[in-house]
Amino acid sequence: MRAIDVIQRKRGGGELTPEELSFFVDGYVRGDIPDYQAAAWAMAVCLRGMSAAETAGLTQVMLRSGVTVDLSDLPGPKVDKHSTGGVGDKTSLIAAPLAAACGVLVPMIAGRGLGHTGGTLDKLEAIPGMRVRLSLEEFRSVLARCGVSIVGQTEEIAPADRRLYALRDVTGTVDSIPLIAASIMSKKLAVSADALVLDVKCGNGAFMRNLDDATALARTLIEIGRAMGRPMQVLITDMDQPLGNAVGNALEIVEAVATLKGRGPRDVESLSLELAARMVRMSGLAHTLDLARAAARRALTSGAGLAKLRALVEAQGGDPSVCDDTERLPRAKHAAVIRATSDGRLVRIACRTVGEVAQQLGAGRETLASHIDPSAGLLVHKKVGDLVIADEPLATLYGSDAPQVEACRTLLEQAMEVAREAPPPVALVRRVFEDTP
Ligand code: URA
Repeated sequence: MRAIDVIQRKRGGGELTPEELSFFVDGYVRGDIPDYQAAAWAMAVCLRGMSAAETAGLTQVMLRSGVTVDLSDLPGPKVDKHSTGGVGDKTSLIAAPLAAACGVLVPMIAGRGLGHTGGTLDKLEAIPGMRVRLSLEEFRSVLARCGVSIVGQTEEIAPADRRLYALRDVTGTVDSIPLIAASIMSKKLAVSADALVLDVKCGNGAFMRNLDDATALARTLIEIGRAMGRPMQVLITDMDQPLGNAVGNALEIVEAVATLKGRGPRDVESLSLELAARMVRMSGLAHTLDLARAAARRALTSGAGLAKLRALVEAQGGDPSVCDDTERLPRAKHAAVIRATSDGRLVRIACRTVGEVAQQLGAGRETLASHIDPSAGLLVHKKVGDLVIADEPLATLYGSDAPQVEACRTLLEQAMEVAREAPPPVALVRRVFEDTP
């Protein structure tokens, strides 16, 4: 078999066999197939799609590229959570410690920024000293001690996703239902959690722009989970504007800490609580969703969630005092403010542009070799529907390169629109699928 034949068959719309998928993915992980052929294959999948059987086969091959982590020796229910990628989506940093504070063990395999969206691992690495590349033994030990550990794919866990994820990030091959589904499920199934809560983002700032596509992705994820006997809840949530106010790694840590102190933006708090509650409900530690919601809220108001985040940061080598004093996080050298030019209501924030601006400021990667600037990003000071007075700040951009900050200011100005009439409010949670095999 030759890699070029597999690429050409996919480019022509053919359905790849399990043998072809295994040849290609295993060859790429071993280093026998170069990045440029893998990128061509990923582009062919983006353009041609995959059948349900192919998507399941790809997930299996990617899962088998590494080990399956058996956590059955750790007492207690284990539930993981994942998002399909959004702008300003820092809910994992809040929901995971909240669920852990309620007694759930959270073995989280998270991702880095992907395309214009941010990633939990890049956000955590904004904390001085924080390590997200742990050995299996360290992962287990942090989980046993803190009830939560958040790590990335490694050479041991989901190595195929580790390589493909980084490649897709910089080759315009992210927004494909089979590639997203196989990426998420291969790393989530690599850890023997009892259940999984997934947040499928939907809207202008998401990879799935409309409800039909988001529903198709949700169904694909559920089918894979069902075939593997993994109970799942999938929420489709709004991503037509950034979640919260902060976009960018250190800025999002600040907002996550504020939320765990009960001082976060309303949308971040409510979605994080809902996701945590669903994790608690799926763990079996609460008998109804309402009881689980009450438990998650108690973990927030009592400070138990924040204490879990502090313990997690410390256990993974980070400076836990950032949970008390976020001034210790990296700070950008340059800032630029965008002001409203008229009175009215904020009617639109082009969410994808916001993500792209954050990426260009240094919060995301342009190439495989790019370095993240943890201090880069932006704050939106108004949400869609908010009243705006002329000259009020609408957003502040942060970066290390003054000309780049200025260039991005122009882009962001065009992404925020003020007019007379507020649009009708959009529900944050748009659909819920509950699947228990
Ligand atoms: N999250 C992932 O883990 N993979 C994707 O492809 C998209 C979001």
